[in-house]
Amino acid sequence: MGQAPAAADTLLKGEGLPDYQAITPEAVSQGMPWLLEQLEAELARIESNLGSQGDALRWDDLMPPMQQLGERLRWSWGVVNHLLMVCNTPELRQAHEQQQAAVVRFSSRLGQSKAIYRALKQLSADNQLTPCRRRILQQELLGMELRGVGLEGAQQERFNALTEELTALSTRFSNNVLDATASWELLLSSPEEMDGCPDSLRELLADSARRKGHEQATAADGPWLMGLDYPRYGPFLQHSSRRDLRETVYRGFISRAASGEHNNSDLVGQILALRQQKAALLGYGNWAEVSLASKMAPSVQAVEALLEDLRAPSHSAAQQELKDLEDLAGAPLQPWDVSYWSEQLRRQRFDLDSEALRPWFPLPQVLDGLFNLCGRLFDIRINAADGEAPIWHEDVRFFRISDASSGEPLAAFYLDPFSRPGSKRGGAWMDDCLGRHTSPDGSKVLPVAYLICNQTPPVGETPSLMSFGEVETLFHEFGHGLQHMLTTVEEPEAAGINGVEWDAVELPSQFMENWCYDRPTLDGMARHWQTGEPLPEAERQKLLQAKTFMAGAATLRQVHLALTDLRLHEQWRAEDGQSPEQLRRQVAESTTVLPLLEEDALLSSFGHIFSGGYSAGYYSYKWAEVLSADAFSAFEDAGLDDEQAVQATGRRFRDTVLSRGGSEAPADVFSAFRGRPPSAQALLRHSGLIAA
Ligand code: ZN
Repeated sequence: MGQAPAAADTLLKGEGLPDYQAITPEAVSQGMPWLLEQLEAELARIESNLGSQGDALRWDDLMPPMQQLGERLRWSWGVVNHLLMVCNTPELRQAHEQQQAAVVRFSSRLGQSKAIYRALKQLSADNQLTPCRRRILQQELLGMELRGVGLEGAQQERFNALTEELTALSTRFSNNVLDATASWELLLSSPEEMDGCPDSLRELLADSARRKGHEQATAADGPWLMGLDYPRYGPFLQHSSRRDLRETVYRGFISRAASGEHNNSDLVGQILALRQQKAALLGYGNWAEVSLASKMAPSVQAVEALLEDLRAPSHSAAQQELKDLEDLAGAPLQPWDVSYWSEQLRRQRFDLDSEALRPWFPLPQVLDGLFNLCGRLFDIRINAADGEAPIWHEDVRFFRISDASSGEPLAAFYLDPFSRPGSKRGGAWMDDCLGRHTSPDGSKVLPVAYLICNQTPPVGETPSLMSFGEVETLFHEFGHGLQHMLTTVEEPEAAGINGVEWDAVELPSQFMENWCYDRPTLDGMARHWQTGEPLPEAERQKLLQAKTFMAGAATLRQVHLALTDLRLHEQWRAEDGQSPEQLRRQVAESTTVLPLLEEDALLSSFGHIFSGGYSAGYYSYKWAEVLSADAFSAFEDAGLDDEQAVQATGRRFRDTVLSRGGSEAPADVFSAFRGRPPSAQALLRHSGLIAA
């Protein structure tokens, strides 16, 4: 097989913390082909060994070698992807692009290996298996079945052709949305046209104008270039007092990619039809059933029932909210007015300027508050360990977590908090650097997480002053991190967030967000960075009230999208003569409070379900929110002022949700924590949709 290329040593190490600085584009170009060749050979060796095992096949013959094979790929390709997101350069992007197809090809080969599939089947017939191992095998088998391993000959060829065609169509779909969005613009030249717009938006629009050749454009004097991307569209509808312009922009937005050169209208039906064919080949009645096969939600009916639980109260709340807005406006509203009048009402009711709270939330203090909270709830200690691990940027920090009672080390994490436009992807996420497992030499490996945010960086002597939204985001990602790091599962396939169903994975993250509003937590972290003054109680009250402002409309919108997605993938058939958009309009009758406009063609830009991973899965947001709200309500029931009860409930959360993760069905893990199945009541109450 030959020596590994020297430049790729650091990339191919395959264990421990990566040496980020040494992983160069050259290492990627030389190392990945070599690694894939090794893994191909290893896979072939495992497959041929299986043939000679006969009936005597045991777990240890198959699962550890397969896990190690997967881990080598995950370790090397994972760090390349990580660097691509946090230290992007054109050279690295090119090196990544050149290797991607080969990695995908290898993964497909792995996913459709009949020898491996048969061996997994054989193992799963053993009735001595632990429940965790049984679940791992079930998930592996189902995953391979959904990738078509069970199909033969022409059927498998047809299936693979459908998969390829769908990949191409969803890329076209997303390119059309990008291009249609980018090709719409509106140049605003007189100050009256910018009436109501805040400075940050003027700045952004002037910057857009400069990029399009209006070099003299300034935030104060224009011209300003309006577009349909969210950073421009959202704030414009919210702040512009020019009703005529809001209408123009709104109509442009809702009809994106629905006509002309970048038209997705036909793709929507084609994608749905191809998915239906794949579902039929796999032996399912429709694509919604395929999607739900690997999720926590037991059936389409169960998802429908949850959405109905949310729909009825949010519909009446949204009607009342609309009435309040119309009272303030003194006239009936059109869809392009809602965002603007919401902002007016929000200001009037709460007098809340979210920017003005930043001085109370300097990052170091917020971290102290978060770490103290985790100590209280989960009996862990978090200590800075900067300098003890290689990093990819000077802003990156490193921490270790230990058990507070026993002192035993449990895990570690990186925190990369600040935005770095141009080289770091936007948004926030948690990813695994190392998962909990036992390495081939028998030593225990502790989990290490990446926590990545994009918050406001420090300026000079001023620390990073966080908006309340940034604080919530940090808590959210830390919740994912806790599930990754506090796992006690010994099987790596089910440790941490591995094996947690898509519609349950947001439980610990959304759960942690609730604590940002908790008085002791807030008191512990919100102090003015210069004066030390605590956050005034009046401001805390405003934060609490603003949390449920317009919650009816927000919930109803999610229900509309989720139900549309579900019904399209369950019920829509080309031969019935109804267009997908017509089906959506039927759903809209009970899930919107303002009638849809003629040109409203949301499906043509609904990337989540036509080019993202959310097909027949958009409901997952709300499904997980039911779990997280209900989990938090266990603390409310125990009494948030009763420190002993809070701690006892926190320990139980650690021992169930955070510790068992993917080793058991999420419904069982939830019941173990809550003592009963989940209920939507807490979410409705937290959203202000039923009385507290
Ligand atoms: Zn999340």
